[in-house]
Amino acid sequence: MNSDALISCTRSLSQSLKASINDVSGFSKTLKNPWLWQTTPYINGKFLQHTPDHSFDVHNPSTGAVIASCPRQGAADVHAAAAISAEAWKSWKATTAKQRAAILNKLFALVEENKEDLARILTLECGKPLAEARGEIGYANSFFSLYAEEATRVHGEILQPHVAGRRMMTIKQPVGPAALITPWNFPSAMITRKMAPALAAGCTVVIKPAELTPLSALALCALAHEAGVPAGVVNCLTVGREEVSEVGRALCHSPDLRKLSFTGSTAVGKWLYRECSETVKRISLELGGNAPYIVFDDADIKVAVQGLLNSKFRNTGQTCISSNRIFVQDGIYDQFAAALAEKVRAIRVGDGFDARNGAGPLINAAGLAKVTAHVNDCISKGATALVGGQPIADLNACGGTFFQPTVLTNVTPTMQPYKEETFGPVAALFRFKTEEEVIALANDTPFGLAAYACTSNLSRAFRVSEALESGMVGVNEGLISADIIPFGGVKQSGLGREGGAWGIEEYLSLKYVCFGNV
Ligand code: ADP
Repeated sequence: MNSDALISCTRSLSQSLKASINDVSGFSKTLKNPWLWQTTPYINGKFLQHTPDHSFDVHNPSTGAVIASCPRQGAADVHAAAAISAEAWKSWKATTAKQRAAILNKLFALVEENKEDLARILTLECGKPLAEARGEIGYANSFFSLYAEEATRVHGEILQPHVAGRRMMTIKQPVGPAALITPWNFPSAMITRKMAPALAAGCTVVIKPAELTPLSALALCALAHEAGVPAGVVNCLTVGREEVSEVGRALCHSPDLRKLSFTGSTAVGKWLYRECSETVKRISLELGGNAPYIVFDDADIKVAVQGLLNSKFRNTGQTCISSNRIFVQDGIYDQFAAALAEKVRAIRVGDGFDARNGAGPLINAAGLAKVTAHVNDCISKGATALVGGQPIADLNACGGTFFQPTVLTNVTPTMQPYKEETFGPVAALFRFKTEEEVIALANDTPFGLAAYACTSNLSRAFRVSEALESGMVGVNEGLISADIIPFGGVKQSGLGREGGAWGIEEYLSLKYVCFGNV
């Protein structure tokens, strides 16, 4: 261990001996608005009392240090929260769209006012560099302003009657209380992308954030509270890993909850889909991907390298739309690999609070083990690490989970990244010869979330973006997310779309009304 690492280990240990259970590191004292530091469930307009004897720890992935401890909730708590959200729905659905829009706009203003604190909480529990965390908060908040507008644009239709004396129409109504299960890789944005359209449509919500990152979720609840969201309209559970399947089952089986929206792994998504059949719930699933990133011989190398850096190395490669299989055409392969390697070598890795660092840790030891296994599998079967290829021993000495940004060449379909998302900072470069061959390779996966292609040939850009089996395609662009787009996948990457006008439809039911004998 180097001396910097030793000092930082000692510091986090002495801090943890001093501080209290709900702020082990004393971090709340560094916030401008300490009200945002919440560690207990938010139910019916209140943060509950702490129950220290039955709690789970939240860690800083850069140091492994415990930063807070949250109550472990279970199935009984789900039933209570669901009943509360059903009761609150009675009055929330009767509000006007303008009233709901006013609250969402207030929430937008509060997030804007508190964005630095929110970003710092996010970096603390998720590890991403502060600049990226600030970007996430801006993206998260864009959903509040977008859906404040979309709330007022929910329209029905008047139909042409097929029988004289009839009048026929459609209206759109809120689905009802919704369960929102969210992952750790975007602890704020994955909540607002669901919560904002739900509230705009007139639904109430029960949020189940990831056990690794509950603090950003609770900070958003603190602001929802301040914005005047009525009691019971937004509820947030805190659930440890051990209770997660009991809680998941209770959310799926609850008759009070009419909708479930999930972002996370495919295995859990499939299980929730099955469990939701019990109550025939409306369901939206945003699951894993295995995104192809295709670089044709005619690509602009600078554009292709920059696009890949954005799509592969953002959030240390831990996004469901991260490029996973990078297919590079024969004629440009070596030149592209060298240009990419040069940029990747320059990425500085370390604690997200140090502004010099362009990449943070992986979320936990399991994430680190998976990335290490993928790289070792590739190397053992003949791939070459042009850059990186190892965990970072120095940074990991006191509990961090860092991996070197890596570029692998000579990767083939027999190696792990071909079949499975690596979810880490590893660019695995496959070689191909023809357009036909690469489309077949790109589509040779049960997943279909995002796909990317780099070419300067317009006809090819159209052909390829239409042929790729995915919900989203970036052409000469690696950063494709925005509040206004329909985010979602095909095949086993999920159901439904989040964002834009499509996002609110997921929380609305269509009703047909027939007036006879007019
Ligand atoms: P990852 O492996 O990336 O953590 P998961 O799919 O396990 O992805 O996690 C995404 C979210 O799903 C988290 O909030 C997690 O707690 C939750 N989750 C995991 N298993 C279940 C389950 N059986 N029921 C409900 N939620 C679950």
